[in-house]
Amino acid sequence: MKRIYLDYAATTPINKRVAKAMRDFELANFGNPSSSHREGQTTRALLDFARVTVAEFIHAKPQEVIFTSGATESNNIAIQGTIQKYLDNPKLLGNAKPHVVTTQLEHHSVYNTVKELEKRGVITTTFVKPNKFGICTAEDILSAIKKNTVLVSVIFVCNEIGTVLPVREIGKNLPAGIIYHIDAVQAAKYYNCNVEKLACHLLTLSAHKLEGPKGIGALYIKTGFKLPNITFGGSQEYGLRPGTQNMTGIIGFAEAIKNLGNLEDRERSLKHLTQLKQKLAHSLLKNKQISVNGLLNETFAPDILSLQINNVDQDSLMTLLDLKGIAASTGSACVSGSTEPSHVMTALKMPQTAAALRLSISQATTPNKIASAAKIITTTITQLLD
Ligand code: PMP
Repeated sequence: MKRIYLDYAATTPINKRVAKAMRDFELANFGNPSSSHREGQTTRALLDFARVTVAEFIHAKPQEVIFTSGATESNNIAIQGTIQKYLDNPKLLGNAKPHVVTTQLEHHSVYNTVKELEKRGVITTTFVKPNKFGICTAEDILSAIKKNTVLVSVIFVCNEIGTVLPVREIGKNLPAGIIYHIDAVQAAKYYNCNVEKLACHLLTLSAHKLEGPKGIGALYIKTGFKLPNITFGGSQEYGLRPGTQNMTGIIGFAEAIKNLGNLEDRERSLKHLTQLKQKLAHSLLKNKQISVNGLLNETFAPDILSLQINNVDQDSLMTLLDLKGIAASTGSACVSGSTEPSHVMTALKMPQTAAALRLSISQATTPNKIASAAKIITTTITQLLD
């Protein structure tokens, strides 16, 4: 049985050119980029090149990019570091508690970090609620700003339901002095992540959503914003992410970014995937128990289709689909090992009796795969409803 992979939002298979670049690097280099001898400096030069590649992709300067162990770490450094700045200098806010604005559409690495800081009594928060379609407008976010707001952290494309947030409009209208962080992990493949146009101070990327390796990410930090470090050690990555760099991962990350092509290529992919997603959605929506979380328009990403299926047990659906060769996900409707619905599904008021199904596609998803997947998913749901 040929498997049909429809979980590209969870991770992507590694691109062959990326794997080759990583293997070639590993076989030829082992020096520590912080060592001053020739072996070290050879690796250092490759690290610098990779940093330039990532920086150019987001229109930043190389010294504005640090490598991390992935987006979870980037988001933690961005959020905890920004708050630390106000804890270190309480007078900056006239001794008021810093306030953070974020949304209920965030990935756990932002959502749980902000929740934890709130629980510790360090910050106050506003989690902006999406409307019934899973949309947060710029106005929703901007109107949540208070006198003591220090940070606005917004996901660019929601990993669970695919909402594209109005990140440019937010950046353009944000009052001066408020730090703006964007989690661009799910957006980088198809949307312009130009940090000047986004007017952000911090932006998060992860390689494994871009046909790169797992365990490597980046954080953009705008020149002039002095971010305190939250981990301590050596001076690697400007002291913000101490520890010897994951060089193989960094080489793979840079190669993955090169393979993404220019903005026109990515816009072409966006159009192509939009058509495929529409085709998949329209086939599935023939079953009246299935509805879309969100809308089938450009306010949603071209590669993520989130569905709600009434009167179907989620675990049974996932198991059966896997047995029939379909790799899909619940869209984190349940955190693994827990039966709690995700904060995103809770925000959408998904009934307990419904299952969430996230199907995410890529350039490798052919029209034939879409047609076969639609057939298998429809028959599986009919089987479970009987
Ligand atoms: N943010 C978003 C929007 C994501 O989709 C993910 C991965 N699912 C992360 C952050 C975390 O990425 P990583 O696996 O690199 O820690």
